[in-house]
Amino acid sequence: MKIIVQKFGGTSLVNKDIRENALNRILQRYNEGYSLVVVVSAMGRKGDPYATDSLIELINKDIVDLRSMDMIMSCGEIISSVVLSNMLNERGLHATAFTGGQAGIITDFNYGHAEVLYINTRKILNCLEKGQIAVITGFQGMTKNGEITTLGRGGSDTSAVLLGESLNSELVEIYTDVDGVLTADPKIVSDARVIKTISYNELYQLAEDGAKVIHPKAVEIAQNKNMKILIRNTVNDSSGTLVTNSVQSNNFLKDEKIISALTHKSNKTQITISTQNDKNMINKLMKEIADNGISIDLINFFVEKIIFTICSSDLSKLIKIIEKKDYDYNIVNDLSKLSIIGHRMCGKPGVMQRIVNALYSEKVDILQTSDSHTTIWCLIQTKNVNKAINALHKEFQLSNDTKVYN
Ligand code: ADP
Ligand code: MG
Repeated sequence: MKIIVQKFGGTSLVNKDIRENALNRILQRYNEGYSLVVVVSAMGRKGDPYATDSLIELINKDIVDLRSMDMIMSCGEIISSVVLSNMLNERGLHATAFTGGQAGIITDFNYGHAEVLYINTRKILNCLEKGQIAVITGFQGMTKNGEITTLGRGGSDTSAVLLGESLNSELVEIYTDVDGVLTADPKIVSDARVIKTISYNELYQLAEDGAKVIHPKAVEIAQNKNMKILIRNTVNDSSGTLVTNSVQSNNFLKDEKIISALTHKSNKTQITISTQNDKNMINKLMKEIADNGISIDLINFFVEKIIFTICSSDLSKLIKIIEKKDYDYNIVNDLSKLSIIGHRMCGKPGVMQRIVNALYSEKVDILQTSDSHTTIWCLIQTKNVNKAINALHKEFQLSNDTKVYN
C-alpha cells in the first residue's frame, strides 16, 4: 500500500470554494493510486465561526479547567473532519472521519501541550485496506483512559508528520495558503520567491524563528525519520517546496546562495544590567532567571554589564527578580529578532558587512547580534521590521532564482 498523508491548514478549509480546492488535491492523489490519510485543522482563523480561537471565546477562560479547555479546543478539527469526509462521500468516494483518539493517537496527560506517546494505526489501516480515505483531526489525541488532549500550537503539522511516520507513508503533504516555503513572508516581501528544495535544518531554523508555514516540531520529527515533506498551495498547481535531507539539498551544491531566507520574531525585550559593583551577581541572576522559567535569547557579556533579550511576556517576572536585588538596569521594549538564514555563512567575509550596510542604509539600528553556522540574528525595533526584511531581501537578491551566490 502506497500511503500519502495530506494535511490541510485552517486557511485551506475556510470556505466552501477553498474546501473544493482541498477536495481536488485529495482526488488528484487518490486517482494516482495512493491510499490517503487526510489531516485537518479547524476551519479558518480568529473571527471565523468554527476556528479554535472563536470557539474558546464561548467560555470563561478564567475559570475553565484544562480538561474542558482541551475538549472545546478539539471541536474545530472534529467539525472539519466531518465536513470534508462528507464532501468526499458526496463525490462518490468512501471517507471516514476520525477524532485523534478514534485514530489511535495516544498522548500523555499534559493538557494543552500533550506529547504523543504512540499511534495505534489499526483502525486507520483497516479503513485504508477497504479502499477508504481516513480523514483525521489534527492537533489532538487521547490519553490511555480516554480523555481528549491537544498538542499545542502547530499541532496539526505534528499530527500529520507523526501519522506519516507510523504509517510509513511515502510523503507528507502540507497544504496551505502560500505556494510553499518562500524566501520571506509574502505578507512582508511582495516578490518573495518559492524555495524549491530546502534542507530540514534550514526549515527548522526558519520555522523556529517565526515563519508560520510549518511548525518546527514537525520538521524535527520528519528529519529524525528522514521523511519527505512537500509544502504546497491548496488553491493552485505550483510545485511547492520539497523538504529533504540536507545532503541531498541543492543548497549544498557549490554554487548555491549562502542566504536562503529571512524571518523574524516580535515581542522581544532587551535588558542591560550593570555588573560594575558585583561581578558574582551574574551567576546568581542567571540561576534565578532559569528557576523562574524565563528563557534568555541573545546574550552578551561586557566588563561592566550584561545585555540579553527575553520574550516581552516574561518581562514582569524578570523585573521582580532584578528589583529584589537592587540591580541597576535598563529596558528596551518593542523589539524584534531578525533571522538571516542560510548555510556556510559563518566566517564568510563580507556577509555581516552587507547586512549592516543594508540595514543602516534604511536607518535601521542594530541593537544586538549573534550568529551560528546557519543563521545571523539581528535585534531591531519592531517598527523597522518590514523595511529591514525588504532591504535584506534586495541586498541578497533573494527574488532571483539564480544558483550563483551574489
Ligand atoms: P495554515 O492555516 O495552512 O496552517 P499558517 O498561517 O500556519 O497556515 O502558515 C502559512 C502562513 O505562513 C502564510 O500565509 C505566510 O504568511 C506565513 N509565512 C511566514 N513566513 C513564511 C515563509 N518564509 N514562507 C511561506 N510562508 C510564510
Ligand atoms: Mg499552520
